[in-house]
Amino acid sequence: MKYQAFTLRNYKQISQIQSALSDEEKHAIEVVGNVLPFKVNNYVIEELIDWNNIPQDPIYQLTFPQKGMLSQTHFQEIENALSQNLSKSQSKVVANKIRYELNPHSSSQLQNIPTFDGIKLTGIQHKYRETVLFFPSNSQTCHAYCTFCFRWPQFVGIDELQFAMRETKLLTRYLKSHPEVTDVLFTGGDPMLMSAKNFETYVEPLINQQIPHLHTIRIGTKSLGYWPYKFLTDKDADDMLRIFEKIVQQGYQLAFMAHFNHPQELKTDAAKKAIQRILGTGAQIRTQSPIMRHINDSVNTWKEMWREQVKLRCIPYYMFVARDTGAQSYFAIPLERTYQIYKKAYQQISGIARTVRGPIMSANPGKVHILGNSTIGGKKVFVMQFLQSRNPDWTGQLFFTEYNPNAIWLDDLTPAFDQNQFFFEEETENEDTRIAAL
Ligand SMILES: *Cc1c(COP(=O)(O)O)cnc(C)c1O
Ligand code: SF4
Repeated sequence: MKYQAFTLRNYKQISQIQSALSDEEKHAIEVVGNVLPFKVNNYVIEELIDWNNIPQDPIYQLTFPQKGMLSQTHFQEIENALSQNLSKSQSKVVANKIRYELNPHSSSQLQNIPTFDGIKLTGIQHKYRETVLFFPSNSQTCHAYCTFCFRWPQFVGIDELQFAMRETKLLTRYLKSHPEVTDVLFTGGDPMLMSAKNFETYVEPLINQQIPHLHTIRIGTKSLGYWPYKFLTDKDADDMLRIFEKIVQQGYQLAFMAHFNHPQELKTDAAKKAIQRILGTGAQIRTQSPIMRHINDSVNTWKEMWREQVKLRCIPYYMFVARDTGAQSYFAIPLERTYQIYKKAYQQISGIARTVRGPIMSANPGKVHILGNSTIGGKKVFVMQFLQSRNPDWTGQLFFTEYNPNAIWLDDLTPAFDQNQFFFEEETENEDTRIAAL
């Protein structure tokens, strides 16, 4: 299959759009698609979406803008701007105003950029001690866009700092001076948008530099869900697999952190074959996904997804909570309900699939694992644990919050047992100094 992308510019050419969607639905796509990023491709359209199940189809919800993704006020604002025949730059002003009201820098990623020899390493994030995130400059886009993506600001060009770095030299120097780092995680966008040749120029210096404390190369990618042909029929598919083999043969763990949101993404022949080809190189595939209303908020979906993943020899890893940005109000599910879905699905899978951990909020102080609720001394509370944290001493630490069945994010919760603040709050206020010293 040859890759074909569709955006607002040409999506009306999709024949399924013409027959399956009403004029009102097309109008909503255009209005919302002028604020939030929209891109889909021929694989998603032909092999993943069930066009007889519109608008409920989960993959349709995953990739196509929906009216409810903007508030009524925002929807009308941009709709008015578009109907007034404003110039492109004038309607962009309106779109950007709305975008800045959607909490574009939710997880303050700008704080995690390290400095080395006086140079800001804008293509690196180092938040958790053992793992450095690397944003190659030519993978700042994806094979299609997820409607819930927290990186949406960079796709619509309002991120002041594009996390992108051309140089691997600086990365290797940074790694050499940080012996605590064991993992480099390639991320983006989607690093598997890169050609094999490009990917090799990033990987070669890393694995040839003899950095003894570097053990694992991870690739955070949705390519298996959005474009498995990357590993099958794209012209450099075999070259890419050879690079994976080389990484493994040089003694590194190569971990594919694969993003799958729905079991449908595991059912096509292309996805199944691509998974087996990647595993054939000696790489492992670990899977992760957020839980999202309209897409995968049911026990059966998760049970089926984890079972199917294990059957395909993948390793379930994380279930995340919808972040506080973009169309969060469309997708968010109360933490209590999220936990119930997780628990009921977890009860119905074997121990082999229980490598999965969740639900997890990737919040400013760290990855917060919602362990469940409990009654302690007659008081109902949520029990939380840091799975990762800015301050390594917090990792593994339990804490309790007041029980609030409607809370959707950490901000909605207060400390239990009459504490004034969470133990991690005082220190987070000073974190700029800590990161500068990193
Ligand atoms: C999740 C995450 C990592 C990787 O954490 P693991 O728990 O080791 O998978 C690294 N950096 C950031 C910023 C993350 O959010
Ligand atoms: S593939 Fe990942 S980075 Fe790309 S739009 Fe989806 S969630 Fe965002």
